[in-house]
Order: sequence, then C-alpha cells, then structure tokens
Amino acid sequence: MEAVDLGIAAFPELIEARRDELIALTQDLIRIPTLNPPGEAYLEICEYLANRLRSRKFQIEMVRAHGTPGDSDRYPRWNVVARREGRTSGPCVHFNSHIDVVETGHGWTMDPFGGELKDGKIYGRGSCDMKGGLAASIIAVEAFIDAFPDFSGAIEISGTADEETGGYGGVAYLAEKGFFDPSRVQHVIIPEPLNKDRVCLGHRGVWWAEIETKGHIAHGSMPFLGDCAVRHMGAVLQEFETSLYPALARKLTAMPVVPEGARQSTMNINSMHGGQAEPDPDFTGFPSACVPDSCRMVVDRRYIIEENSDEVRQEIHDVLAKVSAERNDFDYEIRDMWHVSPTMTDRQAPVVQSISRSIEKVLNKSPEYVVSPGTYDQKHIDRIGRLKDCIAYGPGILDLAHQPDEYVGVDDMVDSAKVMALSLQDLLNA
Ligand SMILES: [Zn+2]
Repeated sequence: MEAVDLGIAAFPELIEARRDELIALTQDLIRIPTLNPPGEAYLEICEYLANRLRSRKFQIEMVRAHGTPGDSDRYPRWNVVARREGRTSGPCVHFNSHIDVVETGHGWTMDPFGGELKDGKIYGRGSCDMKGGLAASIIAVEAFIDAFPDFSGAIEISGTADEETGGYGGVAYLAEKGFFDPSRVQHVIIPEPLNKDRVCLGHRGVWWAEIETKGHIAHGSMPFLGDCAVRHMGAVLQEFETSLYPALARKLTAMPVVPEGARQSTMNINSMHGGQAEPDPDFTGFPSACVPDSCRMVVDRRYIIEENSDEVRQEIHDVLAKVSAERNDFDYEIRDMWHVSPTMTDRQAPVVQSISRSIEKVLNKSPEYVVSPGTYDQKHIDRIGRLKDCIAYGPGILDLAHQPDEYVGVDDMVDSAKVMALSLQDLLNA
C-alpha cells in the first residue's frame, strides 16, 4: 500500500522532471516527415520508436501490412507494436497512436517539419495530430515503470500507419492479426488531440456512396437530341434541399458530439463531376460541344447511434426513387463506397472511469465526455478487434489538426502525461 501512495504523490514530479525529454521526443517525431498519402518514412519512425522502447525492455514487433491499400515496396505500410510484461500477470493497457500526418498545405509561417519550440508550443505537421499525444503516452509509460518496476499486467505502445486514410494498413490490419483481441489487451487509450480535460467515447457512423445519373450524348447546339445527365443530377440536388436536409436536421442525437453542430445527422457532398473531364492543365483550348451523358456525385453521410445503416441507405434510395417517379428518362446507379458503424464506449467502462478520476486529480475539474464527429481508429478496435474498453484521450486542440501552423502546447502534453500515468497506476496496480 505504501508504494502505491508514494507513486501517486510522485507522478506529477516524475513527469515534470521529464519535460525537456518530452519536448525533445516530440520534436524528433515531428522531424520524421511521415506524410500520408503516400506513406513516407513509416519504417524510419517505427525504427525510432522500436529503438527507444527496446532500451526500456519492451518486446518489439514490426508489422508490415502487406497488400493493404497503398502498400508497396516504395511505400511499405509499417507498424510497430511494443509490449512490456509486468512481473506478474494481469490486464494489459495499450496506447495506440497513428504515426502518419496529412499534407502540409499552404499558409505556414513555421517549418512544418522543423519541430520548433516557441512560447511553450511545439510547431509542425502532426504536432497536435498526434505526435504530441504519442510522445506524452511514452513519457507517461516510462515514468510509470520507473515508479512501479514490479507492476502487474502488461503495457503496450503501438505506432500505426494510415489512420488519415482509413487505417486499413494500420490498426485494421493489426486487429485482423489479433493484436486487439480482448484476451490479449483489455484497455485501449488512443491519444488523439481531444484536449487534456475531455474523454472521447467514440464517433458517429459514416456511409459514403457514389450516385451516377445517366444521359445521352449529342451535339451541344441541339441539346434536345440528347439527354443531359447534369440536369438529372440537378433534380437530385433539388430533392436533397427540399426534403433530405431538413429531415437530417431533425435527427438529433444523445451522443455528446463536439462541436455542437455535429450533434445530428449530416451529409456533405464530397464531389461532383459531370460532362467532360477537367482539362489537362497544359491544354489551353476549349471543350467540345457535347451534352453530358454522365454525372457522378459522392456523398459523405455521417450518422448517429440512433440510426442504423440500412435506414441511412434507404433514405437516399427513397430520394432517387422519388425523382425517378417524377422525371422522364431518369436513369441512375448508386454504389456503396465504404461504411463505418457509430461507436460509443459506456461511461461506466473501466478505462473511462479511470481516466475521469485521473483528470479530476491532475486538473482539479470534472472531465467532459465527448464524441468525435468523424471516425478514427476506434472503429477497427471495436469492430474487428471486438474490444469495447477503448477511448480517445490526449493533449492538443482538435481544431488545429490539419491546419497550417499546427502546434501542441507543452503544458498540455505534460498534464495529459500525468493523467495517463495515474491511470496506468489505477488500471494495473489497483
Ligand atoms: Zn489523428
């Protein structure tokens, strides 16, 4: 008992003492430009993590997700899973972070891969989403092991590929290989940037589909001899505006989604292409005069836990059936692209309760429970891994993700590392 009390008292200091190390680790991770697409430098960052954790007595497995989307010898999908067994058997706590970052885009005033520290913030692509969270979890784990070298159970840290492009070469692949089997791992924390005082329980569902309207090509000077696929699509858009969008706005959810605007069903029109393809930038001539015989639209429908995927699909099919009944020669196809079910971990689940108690101790305030508007790797841990005790918790301001001059606050990383270390103590030594 004495050791446990000592541990709790010592954690804030043990983490504070590692502040400079936490900064350096975050900077090192940012300086490995793991851009995805295409999936740069995955091996390099996995080896960096493997070397660090091997020296802390972790067993290392390097896993290439052969044959997954984007995997090639030029851009191999590497993942690293590090595991350290405790002295006696017990539950396993797993920290999962994605190692990929999105393109830099325009508007930066800092070097996106410089990892510069300025006014208590570390700048760079991926600083917030989510190399700061990865670094904080590593520091938390190392501090915990120093405080409790005889802990029972096991600790795992994974760095996984491709979260930004669906996670198929990362967590989904590992889950299929049994890495997230409930017999092996009991609690999962994903240090995505949800803010240090918030526990993210899950995410809304997603359904993407492509709708194509079909027409008949003819000379553009005699459109009456053809059938314009873009006009048919216009009728679909009209029906979306008059019936579908108002219906979605009425579908409110009990899920605590943030931001507030996403606390309902939503649908984005991702893209639309009708008629001739966008010209090659080197081509300076005019398009030829044709009536478009095809128009394609991709819809990105986000749905809530109160809906099921069948009714989400049916709703769009009903819109198309209505247009079809009202319009001559309306010919269309609809193709499923991908689908993810909504997921939400119970508030009474052990990892939720543990992180909540730790937030109260470290930050002296009650945690906020949130649900993410978009999906993240929890979907694969839940659906493929069948592991339910999973949340996202980590430092950083979600709104900064994917923006120019992305940064993570050092104080936020330090605080969330304290929370993670306390929860390790709670979940493993309790
Ligand atoms: Zn992320």
